[in-house]
Amino acid sequence: MSASARLPAARTAIRALRAPLLRWYRRHRRNLPWRRTTDAYAIWVSEAMLQQTQVATVIPYYARFLARFPDLRSLAAADDEAVLATWSGLGYYRRALSLRDGARAVLERHGGAVPADREALLALPGVGRYTAGAIASLAHGREEPVLDGNVRRVFSRLFAYRATGSSASDAPLWNAAACLVRGTAPGDLNQALMELGALVCTPRAPRCSVCPVAKRCAGRLGGNPERFPPARATPPPRAWRVAVAVVEHEGRVLLERPGPDNPFRGMWDLPAVRLAADEDAASAVAATMRSRHGIRCRVHGTVDGPSHAILSARLRLVVVRASATPRPRRERTRWVAPAELDTVAVSSASRKALASAAHAPSGRAGASSGGRAKA
Ligand code: SF4
Repeated sequence: MSASARLPAARTAIRALRAPLLRWYRRHRRNLPWRRTTDAYAIWVSEAMLQQTQVATVIPYYARFLARFPDLRSLAAADDEAVLATWSGLGYYRRALSLRDGARAVLERHGGAVPADREALLALPGVGRYTAGAIASLAHGREEPVLDGNVRRVFSRLFAYRATGSSASDAPLWNAAACLVRGTAPGDLNQALMELGALVCTPRAPRCSVCPVAKRCAGRLGGNPERFPPARATPPPRAWRVAVAVVEHEGRVLLERPGPDNPFRGMWDLPAVRLAADEDAASAVAATMRSRHGIRCRVHGTVDGPSHAILSARLRLVVVRASATPRPRRERTRWVAPAELDTVAVSSASRKALASAAHAPSGRAGASSGGRAKA
């Protein structure tokens, strides 16, 4: 019998997980801000933020976003720049605009009330099967399942099932999740599974000795639960050197709207350019500023900045400090004072580079290129 055929037969075993999971969750759950509300809009915001992002990172952004957009109507009325500025630093900016577009659709189609029905949720921009299940169960108490990375790992180990993350291998897991939530407290059961994956059934070194469902776990009984799910062969991230220009004029710093040749992903960012293997960062920045913006800048030094991960690449930032005289306002550039930066949508890579430049000793050695600053 194939692994994928085994799971549906485990219906009784799945139902037996409900009580121990609920008991454990109610005793050990973290006191997270989105667990103190049943407001579907706020829960939707948290779910959008938590995609690909750690809980600890999300907490301050969640508070800030809800302070700026306290309800669905205020978000629906916001323009791109206001939404992205409030999301700035959290990354994956498409999520923010999809959330705003979803709020607009709820206003148009449902009079501003986030629907409880799964099909209606799935019809909203940016809402997939996981998010629909989370909103329906957590906010509305519907018996709708969720399957995220944590739940996939927990089920994979509980049933010694070799989940690969493909839709075919996930189908029995969705069925198992649906079977589990049928009955009372579907929201708590979904959260219990996710919390167990986050706190106990971790990717490495699962804490089986404190797991509430250890007695029923086929992966543990087999002696090596970490075999499940099988590791996916992922190529190592590509390593890029990127020169980032912190170009100042009278206390303001130059930002640009990133084009396709800027590896960052904010709405406004520091000018940045990917470097060839031995390319000099200062020279590359000076040339880029001339070609992209017609600005001649004076380079004062370079400093090795932090690393930054984007999608499948790891960037090693080289921060180039420079000064220049602004050109008359152009569509793709703006000069911003440090105090204004919190209101502008810039990527976390740009924020890291700005922090490195601020902490670098002034006049630190580095190549100096580009001539006299000139408009
Ligand atoms: Fe995960 Fe261990 Fe619990 Fe099984 S017993 S679900 S492997 S923590």
